[in-house]
Amino acid sequence: MAEEPKEAGQSKPGFQNPVAGFGVTFKAMFKKRLTEQYPEQQKTTAPRFHGRHQLNRHPDGLEKCVGCELCAWACPADAIYVEGADNTDEERYSPGERYGRVYQINYARCILCGLCIEACPTRALTMTNEFELADSSRANLIYTKEQLLAGLDEGMVDTPHAIYPGTDEQDYYRGLVTEAAPGTERQVALSKGEVVQEAASTFGEDEPASKKVIGR
Ligand code: SF4
Ligand code: SF4
Repeated sequence: MAEEPKEAGQSKPGFQNPVAGFGVTFKAMFKKRLTEQYPEQQKTTAPRFHGRHQLNRHPDGLEKCVGCELCAWACPADAIYVEGADNTDEERYSPGERYGRVYQINYARCILCGLCIEACPTRALTMTNEFELADSSRANLIYTKEQLLAGLDEGMVDTPHAIYPGTDEQDYYRGLVTEAAPGTERQVALSKGEVVQEAASTFGEDEPASKKVIGR
């Protein structure tokens, strides 16, 4: 005849169960604490931690993104939106033919897997160690190109601006351009609605009013 299964709690005499419970508590008192005092104390991430993305620049400030959309095609979460556009000599954002005019990453979708940065042929897209991405608004979780674009280091000029004189796109990838050419100035971003205005002279009526002012 088959033996009847024991009911829960029948394995030990009844009076031992509370004591066993306190035993678990007692053992936990001597274990290493796992509580982290976040956000007061920030923990350093691993060097290759996958955090917020960054769109990188060449050493003279031109953008590395060529608007090819390979990152968007590689993304399993459909979190990236890219629109490419043509550079012109009057308004240049990258050394080659094309640049990323619109670039967005939706962090409500992104799973920080890193497939997009593997797909990028120019190393324009990399990931930082920044992980504080939470927000209560869906709209705020869509990061724009302006938010993702790397800041300006020493020797860089903000885009748009002319390519380093005497070089081509290949020279940028060969590392031959190490800073902006002397005298490089930011161009007027006409495609973004910026306009060139002639400034009124402050030196008198005879002085030509030729200084360019960039406004919106
Ligand atoms: S990290 Fe992964 S999920 Fe996030 S944008 Fe890149 S490919 Fe898409
Ligand atoms: S970030 Fe890289 S892969 Fe994505 S559009 Fe720009 S160049 Fe292409």
